[in-house]
Amino acid sequence: MIYDGHIHIRPGKVNPVELKEQMTQCGIDGGVLISLSPENGTFDSRVENLLEWTEGNDELIPFFWINPLETGAIGQVRRAIEKGVAGFKIICDRFFPGDPKCMSVCKIAADSDKPILFHSGILWDGKPSSEYCRPVHFESMMTINNLRFSLAHIGWPWCDEMIAVYGKFLNFKSRNPRSKIEMYIDTTPGTPANYREEVLRKLFLTGYDVENSLIFGSDCDANDYNIEWTAKWVERDKMIYTTLDLSEKVVSGIYKNNLEAFISGSNQTRDYKDLIPASF
Ligand SMILES: [Zn+2]
Repeated sequence: MIYDGHIHIRPGKVNPVELKEQMTQCGIDGGVLISLSPENGTFDSRVENLLEWTEGNDELIPFFWINPLETGAIGQVRRAIEKGVAGFKIICDRFFPGDPKCMSVCKIAADSDKPILFHSGILWDGKPSSEYCRPVHFESMMTINNLRFSLAHIGWPWCDEMIAVYGKFLNFKSRNPRSKIEMYIDTTPGTPANYREEVLRKLFLTGYDVENSLIFGSDCDANDYNIEWTAKWVERDKMIYTTLDLSEKVVSGIYKNNLEAFISGSNQTRDYKDLIPASF
């Protein structure tokens, strides 16, 4: 089973039947659908559009893209959850993750047991904004006790920084056993193909527990799912996982089980004392 943890809805026709057909053609069984961006409509119209895609399709999971700077953002989180949204997407394009407005939104999501998928790394949005998305800025999330969040694109090109931040969160958890914060790594490219093996190899050779935290994603559009692109990335990644000698259990975690844990919170029983090399 392969779930795609990162699919964008674009403006246009809502057609989940066609989407599922396209996904099936490249071996994808389901995935996370991210709503239209905040620039593309009102809160109500965007939630409605998102649920039109996902309702009646259990394998399509609705995530709502929220702009924490918008007036009423906290109310939007609450109302989106009431409507059935499973998680949130945030792109920090003009504010740091530690901005009080962003932190308030994250806290409400965390208190409601809903995960947040952040963009991280270089941001292709036509304006100077990537600095806000550097992995190290997400250390701010440490103060939100029960937050589950993931950083997309392995923080490309700041992949080393992202791995270091991930290690820091594991260390934080071992120091603060009562903290329920969980960081996940969304492997959506990001990384150009020629960097892929190096990055995945580094991730798995750190000695950190990454096997329960990696989530596969494609960054495809729901409106025109790119079958060829996704099939290629799955094939390339699987070859790398074979080279790295990963077990079937670990690989199925990356392709489905970790996403489920990210959404449901079922990873929280892990013992963090054993997840980082003792020498560090
Ligand atoms: Zn994306």
